[in-house]
Amino acid sequence: MPTRPHLIMQRIGIDLGGTKIEGILLGEDSEVVVRRRIPTLQEEGYEAIVGRISGLIRDLQKASTGGCRIGICTPGSISPRSGFLRNSNTVCLNGMPFKDDLEASLGVEVKMENDANCFALAEAHFGAARGFQNVFGVIMGTGVGGGIVLDGKVHQGRLLIGGEWGHSTLHPQGNLCFCGRRGCVETYLSGPALQRRWNELTAERLGLPEIVSRLDSGLATGAARRWKAEFLTNFGLALSNVINILDPDAVVLGGGVSNIRFLYDEGLREVHRNVFSDFADTPILRHQLGDSSGVFGAACLGHGLREEAGQDVSE
Ligand SMILES: [Zn+2]
Repeated sequence: MPTRPHLIMQRIGIDLGGTKIEGILLGEDSEVVVRRRIPTLQEEGYEAIVGRISGLIRDLQKASTGGCRIGICTPGSISPRSGFLRNSNTVCLNGMPFKDDLEASLGVEVKMENDANCFALAEAHFGAARGFQNVFGVIMGTGVGGGIVLDGKVHQGRLLIGGEWGHSTLHPQGNLCFCGRRGCVETYLSGPALQRRWNELTAERLGLPEIVSRLDSGLATGAARRWKAEFLTNFGLALSNVINILDPDAVVLGGGVSNIRFLYDEGLREVHRNVFSDFADTPILRHQLGDSSGVFGAACLGHGLREEAGQDVSE
């Protein structure tokens, strides 16, 4: 393979959250050059947020030594039909041409992806799934989402819903979901769903860490054992459905639910048991980047990281 000059650029990643906006400048070797955090101040409205993000990006550009590629991580997604942002928890951005306005303000192109895709990208490039070619990143937190990374890039899909396993149906007559349908994965595997189920079975209102320590303490009642068995069954079904279609090289888990240790042994076995293959060894890995996945994932968006073999970057 002929060696061509590296075309690596510095990269800026922005993680837009409901209360804070974080920005990072990565150098050519992916080292952190500058990292900065500012409040979102949603109450000041759309124009103000666009202005504040533009200002943060300009500050990071000033700290760079050359051209920068810019990526933004935000909950929600750009509608392929309207080009407007939808489903963001920074609600004043919804229904607005956020990407266009930001690009107009900055005079350069920006890439934008949702938090689950950025999570998958960050873990695939810098975290637990580093070195795996095709990765399914899972977020099990307040909601359930996912992102697919193929050969180092996000697989967006025709409808820009690639990886959205949280609203695929696990039980057709099951729990009612906010999306209007029944039995979505999210209504079984999100943190609130698991707490609600514990409450139904035991009449106790506990957070997930307390529930898990109750199970670990050896004081597990029949109801507690049932909670865990149902959880493992649902986890096994939901993830094996994805593996049967995607057959990723690794699955990486994030979000609060991913801190539950039994997912990585008993949960793993339950997933493998349901995979349509005589042999299954797909690793299920715990995230390594935590809350930083948004900003690192954003910095990886479409930016062609240096290939292992030292070839040029791709776009
Ligand atoms: Zn749903």
